[in-house]
Amino acid sequence: FRINIAIDGPAGAGKSTVARKVAKALSYVYVDTGAMYRAVTWDMLNLGIEAENEQEVLARMESLEIELIPGEDGQRVRLSGQDVTDDIRSLAVTRTVSRYAQIEGLRAELSSAQRQMALRKGVVMDGRDIGTTVLPDAEVKIFMTATVEERARRRFRELPESGESITLEQLEREIADRDELDRNREVSPLVCAEDATVLDTTRMTIEEVSDAIVRLAER
Ligand code: C5P
Repeated sequence: FRINIAIDGPAGAGKSTVARKVAKALSYVYVDTGAMYRAVTWDMLNLGIEAENEQEVLARMESLEIELIPGEDGQRVRLSGQDVTDDIRSLAVTRTVSRYAQIEGLRAELSSAQRQMALRKGVVMDGRDIGTTVLPDAEVKIFMTATVEERARRRFRELPESGESITLEQLEREIADRDELDRNREVSPLVCAEDATVLDTTRMTIEEVSDAIVRLAER
């Protein structure tokens, strides 16, 4: 029988890499909920709708369709028919997404779509509020952490070679700022669920972390 696995934690803890591996090992579906917040943010930036303007954000949301399409090389993201998989990783989106993610109505909408995706079980879902709010009944809950220095180093190594440049120090500051917004927001903040298994991955390899989660899932 199939279960659901919730993986939460701060930015750059390795959640998506690990979640993808775990999903593959179990033949489950990987759902990256951050991509949904990013897709909405990308659209709002294109239209010049600021996060402070909640009513406009929510009105615009009504005409948006977000699709997560599982594929060979990970999940593709489509927004109202357009493939935005790469666009939503831009620095502009990364720097503002946490401000849009504060909006209660926006969270309610995305959370309910995420719950729908998990109804038939067999889902590995990563985010900030999966174990606490989206799937409080998930059979396995993981809270992945690592020091902010290590998380910044990991993100730095993953940066695309072309285009935007940012220093390691800047990256560390931006990650810390984003965590702070995510931890202190009023609606479903980033916290460890009471019944989650905490994995400090600072000194763990991706394989060690994903093996540990697969073992928990198979118990
Ligand atoms: O996971 P990722 O770093 O792509 O998420 C981008 C941002 O989306 C997070 O910093 C957070 O503000 C928001 N987010 C959220 N709840 C989730 C997933 C992401 O608030 N479940």
